[in-house]
Amino acid sequence: MCAACEGVRREEYELKNENNTVPDQNEDSGFAALGISGVLLKATEQAGLTEPKPIQIAAIPPHLAARDVLGVAQTGSGKTAAFALPILSKIIGLGSRRKPRTARALVLAPTRELAVQIEETFRLLSKGAHVSTALVLGGVSRNTQVKRLQPGVDVLVATPGRLMDLVRERDVDLSETTWLVLDEADRMLDMGFLPDVRRIAKATHPARQTAMFSATMPTEIEELARTLLRDPVRVEAAPQGTTAGEISQSIVLARLKQKRKLLSDMLANPAMSRVIVFARTKHGADRVTRDLGRDGHEAAVIHGNKSQNARQKALNGFRDGTVRILVATDIAARGIDIDGITHIINYDLPNEPESYVHRIGRTARAGADGVALSFCGHDELAYLKDIEKTTRQKIAIDGDHPFHAERIATDHANGKTPPPPRQGGRPQRPQRSGKPSGAGRPGGGQRNGRSRSGAGRARAMA
Ligand code: AMP
Repeated sequence: MCAACEGVRREEYELKNENNTVPDQNEDSGFAALGISGVLLKATEQAGLTEPKPIQIAAIPPHLAARDVLGVAQTGSGKTAAFALPILSKIIGLGSRRKPRTARALVLAPTRELAVQIEETFRLLSKGAHVSTALVLGGVSRNTQVKRLQPGVDVLVATPGRLMDLVRERDVDLSETTWLVLDEADRMLDMGFLPDVRRIAKATHPARQTAMFSATMPTEIEELARTLLRDPVRVEAAPQGTTAGEISQSIVLARLKQKRKLLSDMLANPAMSRVIVFARTKHGADRVTRDLGRDGHEAAVIHGNKSQNARQKALNGFRDGTVRILVATDIAARGIDIDGITHIINYDLPNEPESYVHRIGRTARAGADGVALSFCGHDELAYLKDIEKTTRQKIAIDGDHPFHAERIATDHANGKTPPPPRQGGRPQRPQRSGKPSGAGRPGGGQRNGRSRSGAGRARAMA
């Protein structure tokens, strides 16, 4: 058990079975039975939430009982409603008198897209209940956000950077914030947001209730939980680091030069009706999009260098089906909730193994099946090794594929991992010793290709 969870009082919320997962739903498990306010039940049902998901069964009762919650859950598990419904249930009884520039509840999310999605969920679930919400994000007008906050709001959803700016300028006052949610905490760590997150948490009400959700629990997140949560109840939707079961995964071991043709040929398959192609870098994503256009496949692209409007436009086109292919960096690996994605293609393998799990989790949603296809060049074998170690499974190699490179397969089978690509995406020149730099770890001795102290670089990549 994590340090953060020491002393968790389990007797009240003994919801896990012996497999250490939350229980299956049963006939008594409607949202009303979990204690959700009657005012919200109609909107909840209209939003398509009829039977609570396991994470909701596990997290809602302790949350309503004012306990802090530490959730190990990914997007797709239903975690947003798991924190939104209890917060809304409590807010509804409070009336509309709010102090100017304050927020009763604050949800922090790592990316703008996820923040937009969370705020939409709050609005959807509280339809007709007169709950005010606001969004604070970078990349869009700050004045509009400040104006929206002026009368005070019930729920504020924000990305940490812009919110910290508003806190500094005293455009928002968090001292009345008694509910705090940190969503996708591990992603906030990767993006270098933890110092801001800590400052923001400090500015909230000292007697606040906190919920933290994270797909993985690296040491830094355990430490954050230990300092920000009080005696949390730990709930888990799926074992850490494992991938969803309904996704068929395979890998083509192909030479770097062949990847463009490989992708283009693959996309000729009409079964690929909604596809995300993941590239490792912003520059790489742009290049793949350009090449696809030249090869007759129109694609939209989304990454951290794009303006918020361009990102939203690309996502909207992909969501409404006008664009079949979305090329993305890991900024889109988590949080994006779009149904009907048939295929995930990892044009480049991610340098962080957890990202692989998040990327492929964009497919096989809402009970549908999904396919995840990855391309692995010779220089990416170290990444593949890390992914297989983290997911505790071997990914099937498509040895019959016309682009299959036997030399890469042989090196993979013999555990020979050449130096991985540099952050810029080009392979490093092999070292004389033939050994990978940095004790065999992708990224030359840094954990997963980047130093934790320079975590802002992960932000720069996406
Ligand atoms: P999330 O993990 O919060 O991003 O949720 C993933 C998807 O699951 C969203 O499209 C939700 O609308 C949907 N969802 C959440 N809870 C339920 C539920 N109880 N029943 C059906 N769908 C749900």
